[in-house]
Amino acid sequence: MNAPVFDNSYAALPPRMFAQVAPAGSPEPELIALNRPLAADLGLDADWLEGPDGLAMLAGNRLPQGAASIAQAYAGHQFGHLSPQLGDGRALMIGEVVAPDGKRFDLQLKGAGRTPFSRQGDGKSWLGPVLREYLDSEFMAAMGVPTTRALAAVATGERVQRETGLPGGVMTRVAASHIRVGTFEYFGIRGDTEALRALTEHVIARHYPEAGSPLELLEHVIARQAGLIAQWMSLGFIHGVMNTDNMAISGETIDYGPAAFMDGYHPDTVFSSIDRHGRYAWAEQPHVAIWNLAQFASCLIPLMGEDQDLAVERATKAVHAFPEIYQSAWLRRFCAKIGLPPGEQAKALIDRLLDLMASEKADFTRVFAGLAGSGARDEFVAREAFDEWASDWQALKPDMALIARTNPVRIPRNHRIEEAIQAAVEGDFAPFHRLDAALHAPFDDRAEWSDLALPPTEAERVRRTFCG
Ligand code: AMP
Ligand code: MG
Ligand code: MG
Repeated sequence: MNAPVFDNSYAALPPRMFAQVAPAGSPEPELIALNRPLAADLGLDADWLEGPDGLAMLAGNRLPQGAASIAQAYAGHQFGHLSPQLGDGRALMIGEVVAPDGKRFDLQLKGAGRTPFSRQGDGKSWLGPVLREYLDSEFMAAMGVPTTRALAAVATGERVQRETGLPGGVMTRVAASHIRVGTFEYFGIRGDTEALRALTEHVIARHYPEAGSPLELLEHVIARQAGLIAQWMSLGFIHGVMNTDNMAISGETIDYGPAAFMDGYHPDTVFSSIDRHGRYAWAEQPHVAIWNLAQFASCLIPLMGEDQDLAVERATKAVHAFPEIYQSAWLRRFCAKIGLPPGEQAKALIDRLLDLMASEKADFTRVFAGLAGSGARDEFVAREAFDEWASDWQALKPDMALIARTNPVRIPRNHRIEEAIQAAVEGDFAPFHRLDAALHAPFDDRAEWSDLALPPTEAERVRRTFCG
């Protein structure tokens, strides 16, 4: 039984990039879930994690030798407005581990107490956001979407004050790193070129060793984000709060907060209660990504050589490359969903199908999964329009096996997540565990999970999601 071996590189960067702070701790911690397959991938000892010392770490009560315990400084554009100081207000990085395959990961306790960046917040989390992020992020990983992961969820035994008192939780998040566009902005807006340079070198060495310069780093980050957003779109995923502080430089999906997957398809769909103008609606996500990446580009320009006019020109060109990279990734993803090779004909069919779906808010997941058999038609009221589409599509001889291995039969539906959270608040974790197991196998259509593939009834439908 071994404690993690930490190898902390971020904590060796200039001290103004973070604050050292101990976790608040949990009065009566109980392990809700431990992600054993992930622990194994990371080379962590799952038996140790489940034992008393492991629980003490996951609950923020006692960190093992070599742990770091730092809150990272970052800024961010929130809904387009610059917040010069955000930072880890309810999260602590407890250190980095190097997995057997050589990849480096942060372990972070989310909901571990106040930090110098907490402002008015309590630094805590209740069970709702912990369980939601656990389920959403693990589903994304099961679908092969780059994402932070959930190593563990712990109930703290403490009540957290929200609108009412709610049971507290801590999630152990695993990320390639927690460095965000907002991390760069923090130093960019302060004119702290020395920190920017240290951060840039750190990021290149850690995530983009193939990048030979800040410009190449920018190009790589843009390409990864374009690919990531295309994957989100292909699953009907709506991040919900794509502020620059919630965009990871590594290209992983991060900060699930009000994230949600669409049931009925419409491009303007928004769930987040704070997104009143639909800035982060499903169809807006690629545009917002470009906007965010332009902020990242601005931070790197001072590092891009003496000739700053040339630097601006090059950075602008890099940002303008996003649409083309995104479009081709989008086409690849959606063509696979309908079982066709990428091309103009397939694109026209996808556009037509999405229009049909939008006109009656047909279920995004069920339509695509249903194309592998005969189920898609049942998702439409306007059957004739669908039949017309289907005969044009069938004429191109779609690859049914490709459809079946591309489209999940099950997604983390909002009403199921809410149901699992409600039960957990009342002390019953069975629905959470069942959903967790089913979401780890999104292509497995076994009968015992068939209810989890159903869309919500009108009474079950969740219309709004919340940040925390
Ligand atoms: P996000 O919701 O991830 O966009 O968070 C925005 C900022 O608010 C980050 O700096 C968070 O650390 C901070 N924050 C959110 N909730 C809390 C909380 N309960 N206590 C302290 N800080 C918080
Ligand atoms: Mg410091
Ligand atoms: Mg955030």
